[in-house]
Amino acid sequence: MKTIYLDNNATTKVAEEVFEEIKPFFCEHYGNPSSMHTFGGQIGHKIREAREKVAELLGCEPSEIVFTSGGTESDNTAIKAVLSAAPAKRKVITTRVEHPAVLTVCRELENHGYSVVELSVDKQGQLDISELEENLDDDTALVTIMYANNETGVIFPIERIAELVKSRGIVFHTDAVQAVGKIPLNLSGSHIDLLSLSGHKLHGPKGAGALYVKKGTRISPFILGGHQEAGRRAGTENVPGIIGLGKACELAAKNIEQENQRVKYLRDKLESAILETCPDSMLNGDKNNRLPNTTNISFEYIEGEAILLMLDKFGICASSGSACTSGSLEPSHVLRAMGVPFTAAHGSIRFSLSRYNTEEEVDYTTQKTPEIINKLRKLSPFVGK
Ligand code: PLP
Repeated sequence: MKTIYLDNNATTKVAEEVFEEIKPFFCEHYGNPSSMHTFGGQIGHKIREAREKVAELLGCEPSEIVFTSGGTESDNTAIKAVLSAAPAKRKVITTRVEHPAVLTVCRELENHGYSVVELSVDKQGQLDISELEENLDDDTALVTIMYANNETGVIFPIERIAELVKSRGIVFHTDAVQAVGKIPLNLSGSHIDLLSLSGHKLHGPKGAGALYVKKGTRISPFILGGHQEAGRRAGTENVPGIIGLGKACELAAKNIEQENQRVKYLRDKLESAILETCPDSMLNGDKNNRLPNTTNISFEYIEGEAILLMLDKFGICASSGSACTSGSLEPSHVLRAMGVPFTAAHGSIRFSLSRYNTEEEVDYTTQKTPEIINKLRKLSPFVGK
């Protein structure tokens, strides 16, 4: 059975071009970039090249890129490194819909005497900028707000937010893990101070990511040890990961406009067909401000997990808005923050596409989904009650 992979916000296929690029760096060119000999030293040149490619995709200086192990490390580092450089300030502002890589860190800060404000979102998953404005004060050390939501694809007006935050002299970080490579970003002239990205979300390898740190931003070094990454993040570099991330960014920069259009066409086709053919289904998230690859649909009266299992039987990979924790089904914190009713939040499915999906795959999925929904509804004790 062919796999139809529609779970690209979870992770993506490594592009063949990326794989070819990184292969020689395991068994052939395995030197340590910090070595004095040519064998190792020449790897330093490849890392410089990768840094330039990441910087080019973002429109920033190569020296503003710090390589990390991925989105989670970049988010943790951004928050903790900013706070430890400004110990007198004790307030952090974030949103209720962040990824756990940000939200868990912020909630943990409360145990260390920080006051943390989690901004709310409306039914569309959008922020109320005036709520942010009201909360900015002299005690605020950091505002951290995601660029695009991993579950719904909703894009926040990050440049507007960054400008507002900076006008008050406060440091601004954005988790752009889902945005980089999917929509064009340009950090030249931007008010963003720090930005997180992750290789495996844009057809690069897992375990490689980066943190953009705008020149002049005060951060404390986070991982101490050697002098790597200009003393900001010690540890022998993940050479294949970094080279792969660079190549993935180069590919994204080259193709982003055409891919956007094609992926959006496929996403829209999938979404409208499912909404038309499945009664009691609804779209979650701001339809007009979304990533081009993501759709999040709720099906009333049935469990997301049951839908996923049946999709899986047909080789279709998607993901659900609820996570099975300790035997009870917890609906997604993002959908709950948006006020999606429990019955609908439980039955939510996220389809996320990539440049590798085809129209045939979308057609197959739009044919199978209503069959699955009808079958599950017949079994549901809630339908018609
Ligand atoms: N932030 C967002 C918005 C994400 O979607 C993810 C991954 O799903 C992460 C952070 C974590 O990234 P990583 O898997 O590279 O640690």
